[in-house]
Amino acid sequence: MTYVFRFGGGVSDGIAGDKETLGGKGANLAEMASIGLPVPPGFTISTAMCQRWHDEGERFPDALREEVANGLAHVEQVTGHRFGDPANPLLVSVRSGARVSMPGMMDTVLNLGLNDATVEGLARAAGDERFAWDSYRRFVQMYADVVLGLDHDAFEEALEIAKEDGGYTLDTELTAADLKALVARYMTLVEEGQGAPFPQDPHDQLWGATAAVFGSWQSDRAKVYRRLHDIPAGWGTAVNVQAMVFGNMGDTSATGVAFTRDPAKGANAYYGEFLINAQGEDVVAGIRTPQYLTRAAREEAGARPASMEEAMPEVYGQLADVFQTLEQHYRDMQDIEFTVEKTKLWMLQTRSGKRTAKAALKIAVDMANEGLITREEAIKRIDPASLDQLLHPTLDPHAPRDVIAKGLPASPGAACGQAVFDADTAETWAADGKAVILIRTETSPEDIHGMHAARGILTARGGMTSHAAVVARGMGRPCVSGAGSLAISAKDKVLRVVGREIREGDLLTIDGATGEVMAGEVPTVSPELSGDFGVLMGWADELRTMKVRTNADTPADAKAAREFGAEGIGLCRTEHMFFEAERITAVRQMILASDQAGRQAALDRLLPEQRADFVGIFEAMAGLPVTIRLLDPPLHEFLPHADAEFAEVARASGIDVEQLRRRAAELHEFNPMLGHRGVRLGITYPEIYAMQARAIFEAACDVADGGEAPVPEVMIPLVATGRELELMKVVVDEAARAVFAERGRTLTYLVGTMIELPRAALRAGEIAAGAEFFSFGTNDLTQTTLGVSRDDAARFLGTYVEQGIYARDPFVSIDVEGVGELVRLAAERGRATRPGLKLGICGEHGGDPASIAFCQEVGLDYVSASPYRVPIARLAAAQAALKG
Ligand code: PEP
Ligand code: MG
Repeated sequence: MTYVFRFGGGVSDGIAGDKETLGGKGANLAEMASIGLPVPPGFTISTAMCQRWHDEGERFPDALREEVANGLAHVEQVTGHRFGDPANPLLVSVRSGARVSMPGMMDTVLNLGLNDATVEGLARAAGDERFAWDSYRRFVQMYADVVLGLDHDAFEEALEIAKEDGGYTLDTELTAADLKALVARYMTLVEEGQGAPFPQDPHDQLWGATAAVFGSWQSDRAKVYRRLHDIPAGWGTAVNVQAMVFGNMGDTSATGVAFTRDPAKGANAYYGEFLINAQGEDVVAGIRTPQYLTRAAREEAGARPASMEEAMPEVYGQLADVFQTLEQHYRDMQDIEFTVEKTKLWMLQTRSGKRTAKAALKIAVDMANEGLITREEAIKRIDPASLDQLLHPTLDPHAPRDVIAKGLPASPGAACGQAVFDADTAETWAADGKAVILIRTETSPEDIHGMHAARGILTARGGMTSHAAVVARGMGRPCVSGAGSLAISAKDKVLRVVGREIREGDLLTIDGATGEVMAGEVPTVSPELSGDFGVLMGWADELRTMKVRTNADTPADAKAAREFGAEGIGLCRTEHMFFEAERITAVRQMILASDQAGRQAALDRLLPEQRADFVGIFEAMAGLPVTIRLLDPPLHEFLPHADAEFAEVARASGIDVEQLRRRAAELHEFNPMLGHRGVRLGITYPEIYAMQARAIFEAACDVADGGEAPVPEVMIPLVATGRELELMKVVVDEAARAVFAERGRTLTYLVGTMIELPRAALRAGEIAAGAEFFSFGTNDLTQTTLGVSRDDAARFLGTYVEQGIYARDPFVSIDVEGVGELVRLAAERGRATRPGLKLGICGEHGGDPASIAFCQEVGLDYVSASPYRVPIARLAAAQAALKG
């Protein structure tokens, strides 16, 4: 087996794009080399070696030593430098690179190969002593930090002291002599820290760095990141060893990061930052403020320092050509790292760029319109769940804002919450249900869990490509980064700015679209959807075969859902209507009535109210199908609790309070979820369902008289047997017949049932005899199939998912093997009895993309999702259709 793959200098051993073997970074380097882009030569040690190294007790096999020697020989041959040669030293960078970019791992060691002898050689070769000692200083500091794991602060402190001693403010003011003294100090720190001197043999350095990369795969940070992003532990990381090129060789050298399109808004314009006379980490670390790449961006920002387009027009022109080549080649927006060494451009990395949902949408639509990708590809590229970001509120433009600072608009969306200053607190407070804003000077991979838990992220340092910005965009969290005027003390849990203080727990609002930071809470408004959104949704609608309905109980929700593209209501839960303040007394009278006459009197009072509800909903849905479910929850949910409530019901129904209390006690159930609910209410008190059915048909006639005739679909919940449905269908049909006779008209309507009990799924063939449609209630079906209470699952399901017992929370994403099997079987048996049987789903799974893919596979006619999930469902349904 080969573990080492060379690239650069006209060679590309690895298969371009083979991320499995080469990791993402290695695969892209091989691919860039193979299409003739200027890539510094190097080699990749494959991900398979990572696995082997861990399996074999963190030791390298002998065979690898030979392969690495060959790899180094390749780099030496292409560059003309030799590894460890004091006269003409080769320096390399060592970087980790898993299949997908993983900020949880060791990142980079630069300038590896320097020691007390080669540093002199580098000084001579470069004709610049200061540069050589600065490189050595950086190398020792990085190596001590990421490979040896020594305390970073001690090195920073030594650097600060060196600057103070010289009376300097900038690192660049340190002289060669200062840097020599600083390296000597660093060497002492290393020796004190690890009890052994700094490794002087470049080969030892290389093996040390390689081991550190492999070791970082099992670091806590990497594990957290893998857990959050469903990355298998077995993948491993590759190691990329590559000849150094120097962006810090004077004013004709530079380094930068760029996106081929704007990753925040998606505009087709180059976007990025660069620094003259600097190394890569200077840009990302946010220590020096980077300059803009293009003149247009600089002018728009009103910034002074020249853009790269202005400062280095020739190299910029080459870079722009590379952008074009890369976009054409990868057919996607690229995130690029480059270095200019004495006017020569080198490409260090390219990968598909992370982007906001808004940018993803615009880029996909633009690229399809440009003919770079097809519409189908555009659809496939959008993660349906990411649409959430677009549908979320922004700040009310008219609300007063107490702006205390402004940073970079790093990730869009507005967020308000309580200030917290460390990731652990963010996580604990969020677990207690608090909205928090995580405030950090800058973020690092250790903060990921806190960033995930927070509503928004605020940092004082770092640009648009800083860790905070990139990670927040990926997670869809609003983020303001680089708000430099903020003085943040994590230790004292306080943020100070212009004489103001924000302490832990204080309310704070951030606007990730403008970069504004505001004290207190600012109200938000619903988003307006962009033209691109409409275009992509239109393409999705053309491609999908399943309909998308919504779960809505009020005319307002129904209207919102229609605006999001809902094609009907898949579930209207009538019980929500019973809770309205003016009705609850009548509902309670009905429940507490000791005889049928008492119940009927209360129902007569409820009838006009229900009819008005249904009129509102039918009107909002104007002719689209509306599935109305008859009463489902256990009656005791509506019972009075407070004395005053009992007194009110007693007064209204003329019954003694004590008698009422006894009746309420009688209704107590040990396991209400499996108790007197659903169709069991209809079987025992048919007058309740009769009232609801009458209200539905009267409302339908009222609306039909004034305009478009609604198509009511009356749905019976929690059915287990064919007979239950048969009996209830008689009640519904009787109400319809009576109302139509009174009104002198008829309307089309359907009677159907929910399939939400295992017995119903098994007996679907028999139930379909009386049902014109099935709607899978996968909330209850999951609860009853797994024997896991919907309301208590949170306590233990997390552990189940962590241990891989269920891949995902089965109440969020359908358990395909278990619950899915019942759905599949019920669909088959139902359709065997009644070929035209309409099938839908109205459990929460109807808004989950993975479950929607399953629904397509089983052949459902529609999915029904809550209003804000309707667009997600439309897109997911299109993707499902494309897969099928
Ligand atoms: C279901 O059980 O899936 C369902 C939609 O009904 P409810 O959530 O109201 O029980
Ligand atoms: Mg249910």
